[in-house]
Amino acid sequence: MDKTFKLLINGRQVEGATSFDVLNPATEEVVAACPKADRAQLDQAIAAAKAAFPAWSARSYEDRAAYILRLADALMERKDEFARLLTAEQGKPLHQAEYEIIGSTFVLRAFAEMRAPEKIMRQDGGNTVIEHRTPLGVVAAITPWNFPVILLMNKLGPCLVTGNCMVAKPAPTTPLTTLLFAELAAEILPAGVFNVICDQNELGSALTSHPDIAKIAFTGSTGTGSKVMASAADGIKRVTLELGGNDAAIVMGDVPPDVAAAKVFQGAMMNAGQICVAIKRAYVHESIYEEFCASIAKLAEAAVVDDGSKQGVTIGPVQNRMQYEKVKGLLEDAVTQGRVLAGGQLPDRPGYFIPPTIIADLPDDAPLVREEQFGPVLPVLKFSEVDDVVARANDSEYGLAGTVWSRDTQAAMDIARRVDAGTVWVNQHLAIDATLPFRGSKKSGLGAELGQAGLHEYTQAHIINAVELALD
Ligand code: NAD
Repeated sequence: MDKTFKLLINGRQVEGATSFDVLNPATEEVVAACPKADRAQLDQAIAAAKAAFPAWSARSYEDRAAYILRLADALMERKDEFARLLTAEQGKPLHQAEYEIIGSTFVLRAFAEMRAPEKIMRQDGGNTVIEHRTPLGVVAAITPWNFPVILLMNKLGPCLVTGNCMVAKPAPTTPLTTLLFAELAAEILPAGVFNVICDQNELGSALTSHPDIAKIAFTGSTGTGSKVMASAADGIKRVTLELGGNDAAIVMGDVPPDVAAAKVFQGAMMNAGQICVAIKRAYVHESIYEEFCASIAKLAEAAVVDDGSKQGVTIGPVQNRMQYEKVKGLLEDAVTQGRVLAGGQLPDRPGYFIPPTIIADLPDDAPLVREEQFGPVLPVLKFSEVDDVVARANDSEYGLAGTVWSRDTQAAMDIARRVDAGTVWVNQHLAIDATLPFRGSKKSGLGAELGQAGLHEYTQAHIINAVELALD
């Protein structure tokens, strides 16, 4: 690609101190060079955001929302270019990349409509209590490589509309779409309101511990999230952490097995399984277990695994070499312990390809069942009693999301109430909506992203409690 990418600091697109190559995971060839910031550039970006904050926060909600809508329009106008670049750096099939870009514009538009108005808490005789919300200052946004665009918009929308400024740092293996967005934002936003710096994991702690960062909005693994939280502790910074998951699907015996298999396959394999809320363990009732296994194996065999830029491809490569090695390790262990229903063999070709693999009958303590695989390898497990399956679903350090599938919606909702997770979908999956809060329980996260609760995470609430002056 001949295009050059630049950092965005104080409204200007600038070269990095050095650069590094970004690889296409389908070919392992270089997509483009990414500018790499040094510590001085990180400090300049934070200083620019700090300097822009007073004027930006003084604007009205309507004014800031108009800027966000212009960002959404500009992103939509260049949707095809963004989607092609996203497939090239991330690996997902082009139609899924388009979906991410369109979804990103929906998120921006939803936040442009949201407000955090003053709330009257009490008006009682002479006593008036109001809750008033103000922006925090400079927000550091740190994003992972699975959905680099939409996960940035989940943070940028609420950050900007409430009057904060941002320094964003994308993941080193997928920085290019964020830099393309920076190019478009440079034309629209006042200088310093939004800044982008890139690194290869050297600047994380300097960013999160910087005294001028008021809040960290982080999406990534639980291990890194815990480091971010530790680094924020000294400054008592606000943090929202959207972390890993090991989501269970519970499939009841009244679901036609081929229907259940199609839903679970889609929920487990989209984006090559690299979704925080992907179905990562499927518990299927014994009465339909064998038929479910046969159906899901057929779907895995029919998947078209190839370079996501090719027409008709349904599953692309795993995003990077490190993740490929991790999933490969889990797969190699699982094939020795379970029954391989489909996949299991790694192709000998360039790129980080892992065919969709389904493994039945693993013990509950197998690493593929206990750990977050974050790849296209799914364990299928049998259950007979609801109490038992709820206990097994909850026996995890994670609690991000989960699904329950049944023709009896009320019974499924009762099971959902017992699953310890931030979101449980009944008879659907991935129904993420910018107007509904999304959060993890246990080690899957802290605080909310999206929805009014997510918006409030970008504000400080002030209680103002007034009475008439007593003159006696
Ligand atoms: P990761 O934790 O390795 O990296 C995430 C980001 O943190 C990257 O931008 C990385 O450069 C940065 N980083 C690394 N070290 C840092 C440090 N010390 N301080 C600050 N930042 C640092 O995660 P990943 O491998 O990119 O993403 C995959 C993980 O993200 C999975 O566990 C997945 O479940 C999770 N995820 C969660 C959600 C959610 O909403 N809960 C969404 C998507 C992904």
